[in-house]
Amino acid sequence: TLDGRRIELSANIEFPEEVPSILHYGCDGIGLYRTEYFYLNRTDVPGEEEQFKAYKYVAQKMKPHSVIIRTLDVGGDKLVSQLGIPKEMNPFLGWRAIRFCLARPEIFKVQLRAILRASNYGKLKMMYPMISGIEELKEANSLFEEVRCELKKKKIGFDENMEVGAMIEIPSAAMTCDVLAKEVNFFSIGTNDLIQYSLAVDRSNEKIAYLYQPAHPAVLRLIKNIIDVAHGNGIWVGMCGEMAGEPHFALLLLGMGLDEFSVSPMSVPIIKNVIRSVRLDQMQELAKEALKLPSGKQIEEFTKRRLKETTPSIVKTVGRPKSAALDYTD
Ligand code: PEP
Ligand code: MG
Repeated sequence: TLDGRRIELSANIEFPEEVPSILHYGCDGIGLYRTEYFYLNRTDVPGEEEQFKAYKYVAQKMKPHSVIIRTLDVGGDKLVSQLGIPKEMNPFLGWRAIRFCLARPEIFKVQLRAILRASNYGKLKMMYPMISGIEELKEANSLFEEVRCELKKKKIGFDENMEVGAMIEIPSAAMTCDVLAKEVNFFSIGTNDLIQYSLAVDRSNEKIAYLYQPAHPAVLRLIKNIIDVAHGNGIWVGMCGEMAGEPHFALLLLGMGLDEFSVSPMSVPIIKNVIRSVRLDQMQELAKEALKLPSGKQIEEFTKRRLKETTPSIVKTVGRPKSAALDYTD
C-alpha cells in the first residue's frame, strides 16, 4: 500500500499447466491449488506417484514462492463418478470435501503422502476444505500426523515445518474460528461457499443470483470475526474466494485486515494496482464506515464509489460475464 503495508497477492489454479502463465501475471505465489480436477474426466483414481509428480512440478516451478495445495474437495458442484459419491438431494450440504476424505482415509492418505513428499522440493502449504468444526479438523490433522510418522519411519524426506491451514467457508467454522485457530497455521476464507451457506443462496442458481451478495452485512461480520480472531491467535488469514478478486471489495478487505488475497490469474494485476494505489489507514476508515451500512447493496455502491476515487484507472474488469460485469465508469 502507499503507506508501506505489504500484502501477499497470490493466484488460484486448477492445473499445473497454468504455472508459467501465472508467473507472467506477477503473483507472489499460489493461494489455492484446487486438486479435485485431477479426478475429473477419468475412470480411475489418481495414485500417489502421479499426484506427487504434479505437486513437485508446481512446487519447483514456483520456488521460492509458496503454494497452498487444497486437499480433495469433491462433491457439491464437482461430481466425480469413480469415487462412488451418490446423487444426493442437497449435494452442497452432503457428502463432500473433508467429509468424504475422512470417510475414505485410504484415498485421503495417498494425497497427504504425495503432498508431504513434494514439500521437499519447494515451499508447499496445505489446507483442508469445508471444515465445519473442531472434530473434523482434529481428525484430519491426526491422519496427517499418521502419514508424517509413516514417512519418517521409511526415512522419506519432507518439510517438517510445512504450514497447515483450514478453509473457513462454513458459518459454523467462522463462528468457532477461535477454537480452530489453535490447530492450524493459517486460515483461508472461501467466500464462494461462505456466502452461499450464510445467505442460503445456491451459488449456481441464476434465478437467485441477485441475493448472492458478498457485501451482505452478515457475510462481512463473519469475515471481520475470522480476521480479528486469526490475528488475536497469532495466525495469518487469506481469502481465496472470488470476492478477493473484485477491486471494490479488495479495498474493504484490505481495511478489514486481510493478509493475503488469492485471486484468478487475470485479476492479479488489477488487484495489485488497487492495493498499490491506497493507504491502509484510509481503507481501515472505509471498512469502519462500510460495516455501519445496513445492506449489501449499499455497501457495494459505497465501495464502488470509493474505488473510483482511489483507483480511477480501473475501468472494467476483463473477462467477467456481462451480467456480473462491474462498470466503474458510471
Ligand atoms: C470457495 O468456496 O470460496 C472456494 C475458494 O472454493 P471453491 O470455489 O472451490 O468451492
Ligand atoms: Mg469452497
